[in-house]
Amino acid sequence: MIITHDVVIVGSGAAGLYAAYWSSTKADVAVISKLFPTRSHTGAAQGGIGAALGNEEEDHPLWHWYDTVKGGDYLGDQDAQKILTYDAPQTIIELEHLGVPFSRTKEGKIAQRPFGGHTRNFGERPVRRACYAAARTGHAILHGLYEQCVKQNVNFYSEFQVLDLIMAEDNKKVLGVVALDILSGEVHTVNAKVVVFATGGAGRNYAITSNCQANTGDALGIFLKNGLPLEDLEFVQFHPTGLAGLGILVTEGARGEGGYLTNSNGERFMERYAPTVKDLAPRDMISQCMYKEVLEGRGIAKTGRICAEDYVYLHLEHISKAELMKKLEEIVDFATTYLGIKPWEQPIPVMPTCHYYMGGIPTDSDGRVRRSHADGDIVEGLYAAGECACVSVHGANRLGTNSLLDLVVFGRRVGLHVAKNVDSIKAGKLPDEADKKTKDRIAAVKASTGKERAGQLRKELSEIMMTHVAIRRTQAGMEQARREVQALRARYVNIGVDDKGAVFNTDLTEALEAGFMIDYSLALIEGAVTRYESRGAHLRMDGKDANGNEDGLPRDDANWLKHTFAYLKDDSATTGGAKVALAYRSVYLIHEHPEDGWSPELREKMKPKVRKY
Ligand SMILES: Cc1cc2nc3c(=O)[nH]c(=O)nc-3n(C[C@H](O)[C@H](O)[C@H](O)COP(=O)(O)OP(=O)(O)OC[C@H]3O[C@@H](n4cnc5c(N)ncnc54)[C@H](O)[C@@H]3O)c2cc1C
Repeated sequence: MIITHDVVIVGSGAAGLYAAYWSSTKADVAVISKLFPTRSHTGAAQGGIGAALGNEEEDHPLWHWYDTVKGGDYLGDQDAQKILTYDAPQTIIELEHLGVPFSRTKEGKIAQRPFGGHTRNFGERPVRRACYAAARTGHAILHGLYEQCVKQNVNFYSEFQVLDLIMAEDNKKVLGVVALDILSGEVHTVNAKVVVFATGGAGRNYAITSNCQANTGDALGIFLKNGLPLEDLEFVQFHPTGLAGLGILVTEGARGEGGYLTNSNGERFMERYAPTVKDLAPRDMISQCMYKEVLEGRGIAKTGRICAEDYVYLHLEHISKAELMKKLEEIVDFATTYLGIKPWEQPIPVMPTCHYYMGGIPTDSDGRVRRSHADGDIVEGLYAAGECACVSVHGANRLGTNSLLDLVVFGRRVGLHVAKNVDSIKAGKLPDEADKKTKDRIAAVKASTGKERAGQLRKELSEIMMTHVAIRRTQAGMEQARREVQALRARYVNIGVDDKGAVFNTDLTEALEAGFMIDYSLALIEGAVTRYESRGAHLRMDGKDANGNEDGLPRDDANWLKHTFAYLKDDSATTGGAKVALAYRSVYLIHEHPEDGWSPELREKMKPKVRKY
């Protein structure tokens, strides 16, 4: 069947729904989602959404901007980061008016709590900037936006999985997508003038992860396969406090409310590493410090091994049960359910968990997809927003609460841009049988007598990534990972499924997802192994730094202050061979652009510096 709408949005997290909400003021909009909309991972977001509202103490978007620039280890585009932080207050107020039930201060204003890396007055001390709805902030936002979309008559295709893009020649224009109706097993061509990708995170390719089952980065794989680039994929955030061995997230809001970490000596070790902000240092730093504590024998279990064995403690016992239940009920629930721990009496064992992709589909600050690393090379009608996109506002490390903010600020901007421009975009002519490739692919997987199975390949992939391309990376480790993932790609040629049916065939969808996961993992590894420096979440342990320390290579602004663009080349379906080609794009730094009217003081302030907290 051919389904036609003006605008098709793939993904129903907050980014997709906000884009849908605003574009539906002008156009006929459909949202396609492989999940029921309110099951999107946004609903799992706990701790908060950042905005310098100044409700509980003095705050300014300028301070938020500065923190975001520094938090991203200077790899973010500073003009886009300004939009993120300066659009934040009005966007939060708009959400409030759309019905999102935020927690309140005694005066009835939106309540705010401290979060990692968010400071007052350029790093003086932590500031209360995270707006929240108890520990279910994402849930509140997601449901609020979903209701608004229903009210605006947005069409929903739930449990439809997009498997391919339809592009006009040379990738200059988008024509639509190909989607599998999971319930019936039918494949449909979806024709649109505008396609927005808002498919969320991709963290299922790591063995320990906070990400939901759906975060398999399908869009990343689809873009690579269609010759489009992905940006800065090597920067993967590990959140410091996953439940040990499980990876289930304990929000940073727990530390925002006064929680702190200790090692086996009972020492609050973050005081040593980040004397000013301590347990509210940015995530990249805390995760790296936790690994170091464990490797140096100060983990609680004293095994010195990082993968699923050792851990440190997160303390909340000094907070009353009543207070915990009011502000962090979900956390209490997780700790009790999964570890049998009562957090008001006992510390919680925690270790870093794969959490967030800073990189993704490259876009400009209106969400328009870049066709290549060249300036102004945009695909007509194609947009991306949310975690799958890279604007880039998070640089090499995202600050907590800045993702929900990214979804709503840029989801909204995409929606507004689409509403304004959709009438001027002409519908292109669909090629004949646009869905043939996908149908053939599905038929081939079902007919295959190959012995490889998605479960096994995905398990091996996630273990390789966790062992060699996680928090501490080395040349040798990453090269090994590249060889091993290439080998998985060759084995993937022999993928088969046991379920040959049409209805809700998750055996099939998981097999197709495994292919996407292998491809973007290869792009990630190539970017990482080539980037010869440490920056943000990318910590390279090769060699010593200038001071003879073995804490990893230093940041190298002279050579590496640039965005990676990865392209998949020589994609051989029969042998499974693939090569990733890299190109680079400069970072927008305001001190390099006096012509844009930035003041000299501001330019000085935002210049890359040594990152200390
Ligand atoms: C446990 C957890 C807690 C978090 N807490 C916070 C927090 O407190 N503050 C914060 O700022 N950030 C937080 N984050 C990060 C933030 O929640 C995510 O980055 C964000 O929700 C991603 O939203 P999104 O709109 O981009 O996509 P998602 O909400 O992930 O939705 C993705 C959508 O894409 C659809 N989709 C995917 N692939 C396909 C396909 N092939 N075909 C069709 N549909 C597809 C899915 O069905 C889904 O609807 C947290 C993340 C996690 C995992």
